Amino acid sequence: MTLSPQSILRHNPPDTSNGFRKCCEAIRDAVPIEEVARRYTKLEPLGGLAWFTGRCPLPDHEDKTPSFYIYPPGRYHCYGCGGRGDVVDLEFGCGDYGELWEAMIALAVEYGVELPKRSERWHEAQQRRVTYFDWAYEVIGEELSRRVFKVLVLPFIDAIIDHKEREEALERAWERWQRKSWKTIAEAVCQGDESVIVALAQVYVETQEAHA
Ligand SMILES: [Zn+2]
Repeated sequence: MTLSPQSILRHNPPDTSNGFRKCCEAIRDAVPIEEVARRYTKLEPLGGLAWFTGRCPLPDHEDKTPSFYIYPPGRYHCYGCGGRGDVVDLEFGCGDYGELWEAMIALAVEYGVELPKRSERWHEAQQRRVTYFDWAYEVIGEELSRRVFKVLVLPFIDAIIDHKEREEALERAWERWQRKSWKTIAEAVCQGDESVIVALAQVYVETQEAHA
């Protein structure tokens, strides 16, 4: 699976979990570190243990003599500033990134690296988490909806003097109110519906007073 920049950015950024480490390993295997290093410094091939050497490209180090070395299997070490790591660390250190995962994704996109997929179990766990949140929002939403009804609709019904008429009106109103999803209330708030916002404020004040 080769990810396009858009499809990568649509997904949540990788965390520092096992999945993230696996992604970094895939980059390390696919992207030649000397190629990335050459964007930032001049490299000379070297015999012996190291592949290449050059002046340190890390921005905080002004390297007068070459102290930067690249060793197999694709790691760098600077004997001047102590900087070390793999190709992702190098791109992160030298490029313009806020987070390590941004450098990882940039290299994945540039080199068309297939990033390892998350396991089935990970996706199932994510799905479960979404479902739990949906349930939670529904419960909270229904409770909120009930309270808004109390503040917004009930005063008008209470104003009906005839007892029987009042009971019937309450039953009808509550039945109709329940048909409205709590999402309707949320939408009304988002659209700046004044009466709903006032009702919410009142619900809030009442809750605060009840706890006081
Ligand atoms: Zn250095």
